[in-house]
Amino acid sequence: MERDCTFCKIIDGKLPADFMHRDESLVVFKDINPHAPVHLLVVPRKHIRSINDLTAGDRQLVSQLIEAGKEMAAKMSISKSGYKLLFNVERGGGQVIFHLHLHLLGGWK
Ligand code: AMP
Ligand code: ZN
Repeated sequence: MERDCTFCKIIDGKLPADFMHRDESLVVFKDINPHAPVHLLVVPRKHIRSINDLTAGDRQLVSQLIEAGKEMAAKMSISKSGYKLLFNVERGGGQVIFHLHLHLLGGWK
């Protein structure tokens, strides 16, 4: 865990979040500044900086993140209308929190 990481603090219960799901591998909470009617963040408990830092040992975890995105879309009733699953990678890719996270965006009419 990285001391100054916002998402590690949320995972550790040191910062509040609106949790939608928690399991042994990952957590899902609402984005504090939503860019869509539904905007959730799927966040591994393990601190990984970005997609660039993934290793072969993280393959199962990446599958779990995508699967959780799909399941949360169903839970939020946006499976049929459609949604985006998005990783921003490093500063040029729009990443501002350097703890890997998958954005789930949807709910547009
Ligand atoms: P990214 O640009 O991919 O790094 O996305 C970071 C996201 O985290 C942004 O959409 C922020 O609105 C969101 N965010 C930042 N701080 C918090 C927080 N304390 N709780 C929930 N979401 C947050
Ligand atoms: Zn972290």
